[in-house]
Amino acid sequence: MLKNIQSIRGMHDILPDVAFAWQHLEQTVSTLLAEYGYQEIRMPLLEQTELFHRGVGEVTDIVEKEMYSFKDRNGESLSLRPEGTASCVRACIQHGLLHNQQQRLWYSGPMFRYERPQKGRYRQFHQFGAETFGIPGPDIDAELIALTARLWERLGLANIRLEINSLGVPASRAAYRRLLVDYFSAHANQLDEDSKRRLHTNPLRILDTKNPDLRALVEAAPNLHDHLDPESDAHFAGLRRLLDGMGIEYRINPRLVRGLDYYTHTVFEWITEELGSQGTVCGGGRYDGLVEQLGGKPTAGCGFAMGTERLLELMQAQGSQPEPENTDFYLVMAGEQAVEQGLILSERLRSALPALRLTCNAGGGSFKTQMKRADKSGALYALILGADELAHGQITLKPLRDSEAEQQSLTLDNLAAELQSRLS
Ligand code: ATP
Ligand code: MG
Repeated sequence: MLKNIQSIRGMHDILPDVAFAWQHLEQTVSTLLAEYGYQEIRMPLLEQTELFHRGVGEVTDIVEKEMYSFKDRNGESLSLRPEGTASCVRACIQHGLLHNQQQRLWYSGPMFRYERPQKGRYRQFHQFGAETFGIPGPDIDAELIALTARLWERLGLANIRLEINSLGVPASRAAYRRLLVDYFSAHANQLDEDSKRRLHTNPLRILDTKNPDLRALVEAAPNLHDHLDPESDAHFAGLRRLLDGMGIEYRINPRLVRGLDYYTHTVFEWITEELGSQGTVCGGGRYDGLVEQLGGKPTAGCGFAMGTERLLELMQAQGSQPEPENTDFYLVMAGEQAVEQGLILSERLRSALPALRLTCNAGGGSFKTQMKRADKSGALYALILGADELAHGQITLKPLRDSEAEQQSLTLDNLAAELQSRLS
């Protein structure tokens, strides 16, 4: 016997019973982003591997161990995109979108990371991301945060807390980095393998460790905020003033880092306690060094990415997923002539009522079978067309969800208007 082929571990089918929730989320996000003046950009799923080495960073979980990389038939190393920012910057440089102009862009779609699959952590997962370019001040940092806060509200989500931090400018971070290396070197015997490896390549990342044994050591490490330069202080104060004025609550977390060299100033995360350890639903920040790192002219950049699956899981946990939308009418047709006339009639109805949700029975079946299908479809009404009805130029309308309501005969001539009135 042939073995059934299964989907790849950590990569999931999105079945019809949940796809409606995805659509709802996608529509809500794209509508909101358009309201704020963001334009959609779509990038390929495959890029040259080097893009992520340069654009995500060598000493990151993603590049060290999570990429799906392979050689194509030409021997070129390609990778499935693990995130969207590097591709977005590449596209902007390639198409000259950054020269003397500002951009507010967004994208969505699948990302691929070879991680240990668990709740909220998959190998193919989806993100919505927004990236802005050419806007150096805290105004755009605040806008991105306000936009996400408004999104939670639109999605009916609560209990997501905002954490913010400033990483300063490269010079102040370099000084701080030296302090960290000294501090952690002095306690090298307490570090785990990951942290030892990062000590000289990316020590800020140690602050971000998920190892509880290191918590005390990390808590006592020098605080970045004591080493910020005046420019960074001003930027961060500007952001906080805006958030305060907008009534957006936040917590300053000096250990929140995005440990790449080109990250500057603001970083933020939205975190919930309701999804277990995979509680970060959105992460973002300013990356003023990235465009240059990828070969463009120095350009301010700031953006975020949110995890679609985690948002949907949170919506489910909080009961804010919408009900699936069913069809309104199911057309039951008894007899050969009724089938023909019924299908012709449905096309006429669809032309008359552009948003009509009408499912036509197909593949025959007894009256009883068809009525069962009508019920399973979730339709509000069955429309029944048989020899009798045809002879009188009528159709029977049978309410399926209201046991009190009686069935009615409607004349075919006036049917579009009759159906319309049932829906409003
Ligand atoms: P984490 O610390 O959870 O690994 P990250 O820092 O790797 O997150 P980012 O690269 O900032 O995550 O991605 C932004 C968002 O995408 C995350 O906040 C999360 O919501 C989502 N995300 C990241 N990796 C996964 C994954 N493997 N499966 C599902 N969602 C993910
Ligand atoms: Mg990760």
